[in-house]
Parts: sequence; structure tokens; C-alpha cells
Amino acid sequence: MVQIEVLRLGHRPGRDKRISTHVALVARAFGARKMHLHEYDDRISKRVIEVNRRFGGDFEVLPALDPLKEMEKFDGVKVHLTMYGLPIKEKIDEVLKADRILAVVGAEKVPRGVYNKADYNLSVTSQPHSEVAALAIFLDSIMDEPYFTGGLYIVPQERGKSASKYPPREVCIRILKDKGVPESVIKHSLKVEDLALSIGRRLSKFDLDLDLIKAGALLHDMGRSKSHAIDHFILGAKMVREMELPEELALIVERHIGGGLSMEEASELGLPARDYFPETLEEKIVSYADNIVNDKWGRAPPSAREKMEKLAREIESMLAD
Ligand code: SAM
Repeated sequence: MVQIEVLRLGHRPGRDKRISTHVALVARAFGARKMHLHEYDDRISKRVIEVNRRFGGDFEVLPALDPLKEMEKFDGVKVHLTMYGLPIKEKIDEVLKADRILAVVGAEKVPRGVYNKADYNLSVTSQPHSEVAALAIFLDSIMDEPYFTGGLYIVPQERGKSASKYPPREVCIRILKDKGVPESVIKHSLKVEDLALSIGRRLSKFDLDLDLIKAGALLHDMGRSKSHAIDHFILGAKMVREMELPEELALIVERHIGGGLSMEEASELGLPARDYFPETLEEKIVSYADNIVNDKWGRAPPSAREKMEKLAREIESMLAD
């Protein structure tokens, strides 16, 4: 996907705090990586850091003391948004051929040099309006909605507000694709999700977190983007932690193998020496569902089969109650 940066010109600290913050929030929400702010104002970056802390991601605001130099050194396509430019609809297909785009928006008066240095001067209607609106419309026409990790996820509601710590289904699937998890593994993970969720719903009296089960089931094999060997569960848990997803999810990934692995078995296999047994009910459900979907029973060595059977007895007796 195209990488976007934004250059916000002419910020006047005395007057533009709110509008420049909105330019930054629009840039972040539509998937830009950073915003260069002409004129230093750390109130804007502080606000963005606060939003990152709550909702994830690592969008940043950097000072750009010389905006023309910033444009010169940008190695990609520079698009200046201005009411005097050509209609974006006319040029969007051309612009989208770029791998990297710098979207430039102004404030009051934009220097002539910006028009000359831009590869494209584009308009969103030929009427004067706002840098916030122009940027949002431009980014919406070139970007897919991004996702963020390391924060809360809003769960869209018809009315009211809802948020979850765990990434929703679509985000999990995008993570798997972005990490290069093979299609066959994604298909398998969807089946594990389906079974784990239906077990979770039947065991609702245990006060389970279905969002956690869903995300854990979908991500349990993420490490298979790096290895199909036994160590995939260690690699997957590491990836989950690196993305700053909740630790409960990393533990589901780390404890999903068969019915679990003891410290001795782990060290014999050359893995970090600790126990990897599923402990919480969410961890047990994902591990059990994976065993069933994969139909591992026949292929497993006797010691592994014993542990899988023990886990199966535990879950099945709860289901029978
Ligand atoms: N005369 C300015 C212009 O060149 O568009 C309007 C100044 S407006 C207060 C601040 C910024 O909003 C502009 O620098 C431009 O980036 C953006 N903007 C306003 N109207 C726009 C339009 N119709 N199309 C694209 N960008 C617009």
C-alpha cells in the first residue's frame, strides 16, 4: 500500500493549534505515517501522542522549519492541495501509481515555490474551504482504512459506544495478511475461530471473553508466517508482543500447541525452557479447537496425545454439564 506523509504549512501557534491538531488527526486516521509541521509547536505532538496511547499506532508529528526543503528532500510524489489546482478526480489514477506521497496543505497564504515544487497541484472543488476537509477527502480517495495496534478498538454500534482491547475479526485477518501468513493457514484459523467461538458461547456461564477467544483463535498460528516447525508458537507470541497487543493474546498463541508442552519437553526441543500449558479457559478453548480442526490425534506421539485427550476431557465435560 502507498505510504503517505503530510506537510502542514503556515501553522501559527497563536491561532492554529486546534486546526493543525485536526490536520494531524485526519492524517493519522486515514493512514499517514507522519506529519511535518511548519513551525515548531509541541502541543500538537503531545495531543497526537495521547491519541496514540489510547488508540494505538505510532503516528508522529515532526517539526519542518523549512517546508520547501522538506518538499525537495522527499523522495516520492508531492501533491499540494489547493483550490487553484486541477480537480483531484482527473489525476487520482496517475497519483496512485506512486509508492510514496507527500500531501501538502496550507494555511492562509501558500508561497509560490510550493506550487512549483509540487508534482501535482490538486483541488477538492474550486471553492475555498479547509485544509482538514481537503486532506480528508484526498486521503479517503487514495487509502484503505488503516488499523492500529497497541490501543483500544472501537466496536461500531447503531447507538451508544463500545470499545474492546482485542482487535476485531477484520483487523486480525488484515494482520495475518500483512504478516505474510499463508492463505491455507488463514483458512484454518477461520475454522478454529468458528469452533472456538461456538464452544465459548456454550460455556457462557463461565464469564468468558468472546472477543479474546475470537482474536486468539484467529492469531494463534501467526508465527507460521516465519516457521512451520514447532517453534511457530514462540515466534507468533513474540510477534503479538512486538505489536503491543494485549498479553492475554500472546499467551493464547504461546500455549496453543497440542495439549501443551512441559518445561522438559520444551528444552529437549531447543525452545526456551518453561511450561507451555494452556491455563485460562480461553487458552484451553483455542488449543482444544485447534486440535479438533487439525485432527491431530492420529499423528501425535503418545505423550502429546495423552495431553490432548486430557484437555479434550476437561472441555467436553464442561460442555456436557
Ligand atoms: N487560497 C487557499 C488555497 O490555495 O486553497 C485557501 C486557504 S485555506 C484557508 C487553507 C488550505 O486549505 C489551503 O492551503 C489548501 O491546502 C486547503 N484548501 C482549501 N480549499 C481547498 C480546495 N478547494 N481544494 C483543495 N485544498 C483546499
